[in-house]
Amino acid sequence: MRIVLAVLLMSLSLVTLADVQGVRLWHAPDNSRLVFDLNSKAEHKIFPLSSPNRLVIDIENSKMLDTLKDLDTKVGPIKKIRWGMRDKKDLRIVLDLREPVDAKSFPLAPNKKYSHRLVVDLVPKNKEIRPLQISKPVLDAKQAQAISRDIIVAIDAGHGGEDPGAIGHGGIYEKKVVMAIAKKLAALLEKEPGFKPFLVRTGDYYIGLRDRTKKARMSNADLFISIHADAFSSSRASGSSVFALSQRGATSEAARWLADKENSSDLIGGVGGVSLDDKEDLLAGVLLDLSMTASLSVSLELGQMVLNSMGGVSKLHKRRVEQAGFAVLKSPDIPSLLIETGFLSNPGEAKKLKTASYQRRMATSIHQGIKRYFMQFPPPGTYLASIRDTSNRLKEYVIAPGDTLSVIAQRHATSMATLKQLNGLKTSIIRVGQVIKVPSS
Ligand SMILES: [Zn+2]
Repeated sequence: MRIVLAVLLMSLSLVTLADVQGVRLWHAPDNSRLVFDLNSKAEHKIFPLSSPNRLVIDIENSKMLDTLKDLDTKVGPIKKIRWGMRDKKDLRIVLDLREPVDAKSFPLAPNKKYSHRLVVDLVPKNKEIRPLQISKPVLDAKQAQAISRDIIVAIDAGHGGEDPGAIGHGGIYEKKVVMAIAKKLAALLEKEPGFKPFLVRTGDYYIGLRDRTKKARMSNADLFISIHADAFSSSRASGSSVFALSQRGATSEAARWLADKENSSDLIGGVGGVSLDDKEDLLAGVLLDLSMTASLSVSLELGQMVLNSMGGVSKLHKRRVEQAGFAVLKSPDIPSLLIETGFLSNPGEAKKLKTASYQRRMATSIHQGIKRYFMQFPPPGTYLASIRDTSNRLKEYVIAPGDTLSVIAQRHATSMATLKQLNGLKTSIIRVGQVIKVPSS
C-alpha cells in the first residue's frame, strides 16, 4: 500500500502545470505573432477549422491566468480569442479569424528575459506578397546619365516585438529609441536628392537577423545600417560607436561582448529552429569571400565617415570603426554597419536618447556621414555619379535678361534639379548677372 501511494505521488508530481501567465500579440505587415508565457514546458498542438475560420490551440495541463484584455485584435487576422478547459486539465484556446491563415507554432526555451514560451505565427493565406519595387538597373555610362537611379539605404531599427533590446535607465526600451532614430533618418534621406531609404522594420514586431539581411537584399540596398542603443555591463560606458563585420575574432573585448549579445536577439525575439552557425551557406565559396572583402572595405571607410560625423553630436566610445562577428552584418555583397547611438545603461545618455531633439541630431549626423561618403564615391549609374561626372565638366554661365533656370537647363541638356544641385540653389529664382555653373558639353 505504501509503495502504491509513493508511485502515485511521484506520478502526480511529474505532471507539471504549464499555466499561461501572459499573452502578447505582435502585428507585422505580413504576419501576426501570438506569444504565450508558460511557467513550464508544455505539450501543445494547433489545428485549423473552417466555416467560420478558426485556429485551435490545445495546451496540455494548463490554465489561462491572463485576461487577454490588452491584446489588439482590431487589426490582423485574429478577430477574437476565446478559451475553455477540456477534460478539466487541458486548455483549449480558439482564435476566431477574419480570414484563413497558414499557422505554425514552436516552443522557445527560457532565456535571460523570458521563461518558457509558445509562439504561434499566423500568415494570412490570401495576402498578396508584393515584391519590393525598387529597381537597380545595370547601365552603361550614357544610360546612367539619362536614368541615374537613387542610392538605396536599408535602415534596420534593431530588436522589436518580443525583443525589447536593452532596457535603459528610467525604463526606456532600445527598440523604441532606435525606431525613432531610424524613422528620422529615413525622412532625411527621403528629402535628399539621389537617395532612397528603405525601413527594414516598420513597427513593433521582431524580425529574425537573417531575415533583416534578406529584406535589405530584396530592396536592392547599396548600404545596410542597423541602429542600436545597447546596454553595457558597466553603467559608466558611454559614447557612440560604429561596427563592421569581422570574420576572424573581434577588435576588442567589448566588441565581442556586444556581438554575442546582439546575436542572441533571435533567441529572445523568437526565431524557431534556426541556428546562426551559417558558415556552410552564405559565406561559402571564394567568389562570395571576394565580394565580402570588397564590401567590408567599403563598410570600414563609410563607417569611419559616419563615426566622424557622429563625433560632432556625441562623445565617441572608440575613434575607429570596430569589428566583431555580428550576424546581422553578414551580407556578402552589401556594405553593412551596426551603429551604436549610445549606451542606454548610462543614465546621462539614456536621458538624452529619449528626447526627440537628440534623436534628430543623431539621425542628422548619420545622414551627413552617409551623404559625405557617397558624394565622394557614388556607385556607377546613380544620380550622384551623374552629378559628379557633370560637375567634372563645368563652365560658368552669366544669367542674361529673360533667362529662366528651365531654359538654361534645356540649353545645356540637363535638368533643373541638376542645376540646382550643382549650384546649391534652394529655389529656381535667379537674377541677371548671377554666375552659375552649367555642364560644358
Ligand atoms: Zn541592440
